[in-house]
Amino acid sequence: MTLVGSEPHFPYTRPPLSKAYLRGEVAIAELYLRPADFYRDHDITVHRGVAVEWVDLHGRRAGCDDGSVLDWDRIVFATGGRPRRVADPGLESAGNVHYVRTIEDVERLRRTTIAGSRFAVVGGGYVGLEVAAVLRRLDARVTVIEAADRLLARVTSPVVSEFFLRVHTQEGVDVRLSAQVELFQVEDGNVSTVVLGDGSRIPVDQVLIGIGMVPNDEVAARAGLDVDNGIVVDEFCRTGTAGVYAIGDVARHPDPLNGGLRRLESMPNAAAQARLVAEDILGRGRPYNDLPWFWSDQYDVKLQAAGSSAGYDTVAVRGDAMSGRRFSVFYLRDGVVRAVDAICSPADFAAGKALIASSAVVPLSDLQDPSVPLRRRRSFTSEAS
Ligand SMILES: Cc1cc2nc3c(=O)[nH]c(=O)nc-3n(C[C@H](O)[C@H](O)[C@H](O)COP(=O)(O)OP(=O)(O)OC[C@H]3O[C@@H](n4cnc5c(N)ncnc54)[C@H](O)[C@@H]3O)c2cc1C
Repeated sequence: MTLVGSEPHFPYTRPPLSKAYLRGEVAIAELYLRPADFYRDHDITVHRGVAVEWVDLHGRRAGCDDGSVLDWDRIVFATGGRPRRVADPGLESAGNVHYVRTIEDVERLRRTTIAGSRFAVVGGGYVGLEVAAVLRRLDARVTVIEAADRLLARVTSPVVSEFFLRVHTQEGVDVRLSAQVELFQVEDGNVSTVVLGDGSRIPVDQVLIGIGMVPNDEVAARAGLDVDNGIVVDEFCRTGTAGVYAIGDVARHPDPLNGGLRRLESMPNAAAQARLVAEDILGRGRPYNDLPWFWSDQYDVKLQAAGSSAGYDTVAVRGDAMSGRRFSVFYLRDGVVRAVDAICSPADFAAGKALIASSAVVPLSDLQDPSVPLRRRRSFTSEAS
């Protein structure tokens, strides 16, 4: 087995990059998924700092940017993604503009003076908000600029968006919603001011861009695989070519919950699909239908989310979303629990996952009442299940 990765590292975990690693609380060695010995002991050759440039699906070969050519019987595209960049040539050369995807990105950010500095965080998604939270903890002055009319608009409901707006505001972040960046004003090679569409001017020392991810699917596209906002695969993570797979952030796979195709950007998804493909290669394949789940840490708030809230018709809020920092939101469609967002409520998260998995029908009043335990509701299943 040969692992080819364009980063100079052994495989590592990214979630701490915008959390404990940025805070300086974990060492780089703790990010690595396995110690170097593991690969040697398991006969896995690792080419670090090497990018695959082309893949020949018929000749079953792959060419790398160090000139090497690899023969393969099976190949797995686990190429992930890269930060979506702002289309502004002036910004590319500015010295104080940051993205957060790699260890090097975070080390560069940490080398700046954080305490007392003015940071503009462009993008109110998970990565932007997690970085904003760490920067506040490190005493930076932070403005979050979000184009939509609420935070996390792409991934959660208005009640959870409102909650995170309240938390960040309480923690001293200046959150600007429905805010379009008109201009990044560059002086002496650095962005000095962010000018918004309404004419307001935000003086800055550093800029962090967190406006999403672009899948690294170009090599697959050039090889002739079906690519459409990611590499299109079936429920076994197989592409249309035998022995060729795609997994993780780059894979666009069938959505068993809502139909159609979806691309998930989460660690649990990447890890589960990796296992699934290994099993398939060993002849023990099964369709991918794991429940999607995700987490986010901001200040003292842990969000755990599971399921798919797309198309929900009813929201049940369990606990106090208006003033506290502990509650859950259940999303229902036709009376069936489809998704949960649990804020500092691990028990509700666990119960929610069980309810979703069993397509449970639970009276709304029970979901809304924190004194009613949810665990025992598992056996209430809908006709649809
Ligand atoms: C800051 C941050 C915080 C996150 N927090 C969370 C979280 O709290 N919870 C959660 O569930 N998820 C989180 N995620 C998402 C999670 O990290 C990703 O879903 C996960 O890393 C996806 O793994 P992957 O292997 O598919 O892709 P990646 O982790 O992107 O790995 C792909 C690798 O392939 C390499 N590569 C690309 N093209 C080539 C090529 N042609 N040749 C060789 N190598 C190539 C890339 O350099 C990269 O090293 C976070 C992500 C980021 C960036």
